[in-house]
Amino acid sequence: MEILFLSSEVQPWSKTGGLADVAGALPQALAQRGHRVTVVSPLYGGLDRSAPTPVSIGRSVEVRMGDRPYVAEICEAKLGQVRWLFLREDGFFARRALYGEGGRDYPDNGLRFAFFSAAALEAAAAVGSPPEIVHANDWQTGPAIYLASRARGGGARPGLVFTIHNLAYQGLFPPNVLAELGWPERLFNLHELEFHGSVSFLKAGAVYADQLSTVSPNYAREIRQPEFGCGLDGLMRSLDGRLRGIVNGIDSSEWDPRRDRQLPAHFHAADLAGKARCKVALQKELGLPALADRPLFTMVGRITPQKGHDLLLAVLDGPGRELLSRAQLAILGSGDQGLERALLAKARERPEALAVRVSFDEGLAHRLEAGGDFFLMPSRFEPCGLNQLYSLRYGALPIVRSTGGLADTVQDAAPDLSRGTGFAFRPPTPEALWEAIERALAAYARPAALLALRRAGMAQDYSWEASSARYEEMYRETSR
Ligand code: ADP
Repeated sequence: MEILFLSSEVQPWSKTGGLADVAGALPQALAQRGHRVTVVSPLYGGLDRSAPTPVSIGRSVEVRMGDRPYVAEICEAKLGQVRWLFLREDGFFARRALYGEGGRDYPDNGLRFAFFSAAALEAAAAVGSPPEIVHANDWQTGPAIYLASRARGGGARPGLVFTIHNLAYQGLFPPNVLAELGWPERLFNLHELEFHGSVSFLKAGAVYADQLSTVSPNYAREIRQPEFGCGLDGLMRSLDGRLRGIVNGIDSSEWDPRRDRQLPAHFHAADLAGKARCKVALQKELGLPALADRPLFTMVGRITPQKGHDLLLAVLDGPGRELLSRAQLAILGSGDQGLERALLAKARERPEALAVRVSFDEGLAHRLEAGGDFFLMPSRFEPCGLNQLYSLRYGALPIVRSTGGLADTVQDAAPDLSRGTGFAFRPPTPEALWEAIERALAAYARPAALLALRRAGMAQDYSWEASSARYEEMYRETSR
């Protein structure tokens, strides 16, 4: 099949979260299954310099929005069997960040990503054969599904697939964005783009797609309920047989403890000596005492209430007051400034046991997975989650709230530790999180059982092979 894959971020060029990992890996897995895949993404100002440089192909596309024309230059980068296209429009994309700065979204995000969506469809048409499938991801490319659904012209219209990586981000804009884009005002109704007085780009993707997916079967069920539906549970229920959950894979060459370039030592399930060396090196890197036998808990991710950093802080000030006397804790992330400040303040109080790094640091993320004994993901909701999959592979037992993809991928340890791949808890409360951490501390005191749990986790296979076959099935079901 000829597949056009649209994403506002793509690893290794740009990344704020799991979407980039998926956009970097799934297209390659599809190409390996024999499909022709073109990925289109914006050319941002701060692309990762270690990634292959996108070079202009000497062509551009023009998109009219309202009464103004905008032009994107088409660039291409070479990597593997996928065609990677980048659209350059510096006024929109040559900025310091992808979506906003200082905790605030850029005010023209509606124009930026509607432009990107429209220009991506034009660029694909300009450079190659017309796609059989347009696969858009999250609100940023929702407009592409709407635009492709009403495209006229010769030939069959492509199958339209929309994947929701996180329903909490909906791309909401004031109603006058429709006039700015030159889209019909009549779209502003509950059955199409309106969401409580705003225009929703996520609805533009969800309403007009032939098939939809989200990133785990459990999250696909959860978002049909008010608790997780973010106001769209009714729409999600109405999608019926068109919405499925496909669990994310991981890029198993990038995340491989046997040869990861970011690690000071390597290891595998049969020989974990290298993991012990990673732990001591990590403690030194973070300025923590290099105590090989002290349990080390790590955490990586966007710092937001979603990810439960506040729950962890409440544990440290409440039921788990003793945690930092019994264990070390290392946290990497950035995001919510109030939570960042609270975590940094706590680290200043207990520098011998708590290290907090507020930054985006790919290398350190790998070393925290490799050096950690336990990996914390107390998320309030988690569409799929990638970090728990990395930690399974790196022998860091995940401690997760049993929600979304975390519930699908981590098996709670049995009370006698005879089975399981991590520790799960249910209510999003400090008490429940502390109870799971206490079980982990108890397991740490039983080295043979702990090793068996680590090995069970390391034996899990979350590569893209199986998941890309499920995407392929979904593509086939779009042909009406
Ligand atoms: P989400 O997409 O909700 O942010 P995921 O767990 O699905 O969460 O994916 C997050 C990805 O981003 C992982 O690959 C994780 O390692 C990475 N990541 C998040 N924050 C950071 C950070 N501060 N430094 C390095 N990598 C990070």
